[in-house]
Amino acid sequence: MKHFFRTVVTALTAAAVLCCGCADTGERKADAAQDAAGPWQSVDTAMGTVVQMTVYAERREAAEAFSGQAMELLAGLEREELSWRLDTSEVFLANGSAGSGEGFLLSGELSALLSDCLELWERSEGAFDVTLGAVTRLWDIDRWAAGEASEDFRPPSEELLAQALERCGSGRLRLVEEGAGLRLYMPEGMGLDLGAVGKGLAMEKLLALLADGPEVTGAVISLGGSILTYGSKPEGGPWRVGIVDPFDTSDSIGILTLEGQWCISTSGDYQRYVEADGVRYHHILDPETGAPAAGDVRGVTVLMKDGLLCDGLSTACYILGPEKGMDLAGEYGAEALFVMADGTVVMSEGMERYFREQ
Ligand code: AMP
Ligand code: MG
Repeated sequence: MKHFFRTVVTALTAAAVLCCGCADTGERKADAAQDAAGPWQSVDTAMGTVVQMTVYAERREAAEAFSGQAMELLAGLEREELSWRLDTSEVFLANGSAGSGEGFLLSGELSALLSDCLELWERSEGAFDVTLGAVTRLWDIDRWAAGEASEDFRPPSEELLAQALERCGSGRLRLVEEGAGLRLYMPEGMGLDLGAVGKGLAMEKLLALLADGPEVTGAVISLGGSILTYGSKPEGGPWRVGIVDPFDTSDSIGILTLEGQWCISTSGDYQRYVEADGVRYHHILDPETGAPAAGDVRGVTVLMKDGLLCDGLSTACYILGPEKGMDLAGEYGAEALFVMADGTVVMSEGMERYFREQ
């Protein structure tokens, strides 16, 4: 599925992006006169999610070329680095080395990513853990998140969960410096699942691509729960990014008004879930139990400049809840906003500068 059209969306909001995450927007909406001024928009899929881009460039060809490069970048990131399913990816190969004496030499990029993830694991007191592969596979998150076979889903038994949990734990990883990278040693049966930071790394790479191409002067790119803003609009004015209402995902609870480059990541129990026997199971797991984190948070949005940490923090903060989560976000200089199960919204002081209720 790919749609590419040009339009004049003057008050572009990622609320629209977020709210119509799966919507079919594939029409060329503008007439020739509007074409000259407006941004280019495209809708496509990559990394298991809908990717929506709004790109400002003087020449249509430059915006189109950027969009194509960005989609290639995302496909390559999945294929060569992050996928645990594709045998071409580093994560797949690293997981295959678990239990082996020689371990696996990670690239410089994945070495840096894993180091950041381990720091977040430590600072979140274990709530954030990228070694949950054995457990996330047991829940089959990827399959029901993609809408496959969710009607015959059954939650794993406690016994199976306990067995899988024994094969998890960032504390059981060993990393040894080697050249420009790290050699990773994982115990038998352990598997990395980088789902909580994949879109974050993608945002970092997209920002580097944008910085490389001077013809693109402004952009908003939405990758499911993560959104980046870059540069500015030719006509001026801020970026407006909506935060989805967990109680009505077609609506937003409010708008972030932002200038220039930002990363915004949201983790919530409404994003990926499955139901069985009237019980709803979501995709953010508590490493202590292996089950979906059972707190009183519905969604967390983190705002910061760094894409990878932004994505990681939103997942960690969801599990930690507002008190500990706010402290953790603060340690990283990030702003956080929590939507609670009773509908209240709790946010960091800094977030108040950017957020306005709908
Ligand atoms: P996100 O949507 O960014 O919050 O990431 C959720 C994804 O991260 C899930 O689909 C899992 O692949 C993975 N995940 C689930 N629970 C955790 C956790 N406690 N720590 C790290 N990754 C997790
Ligand atoms: Mg995340």
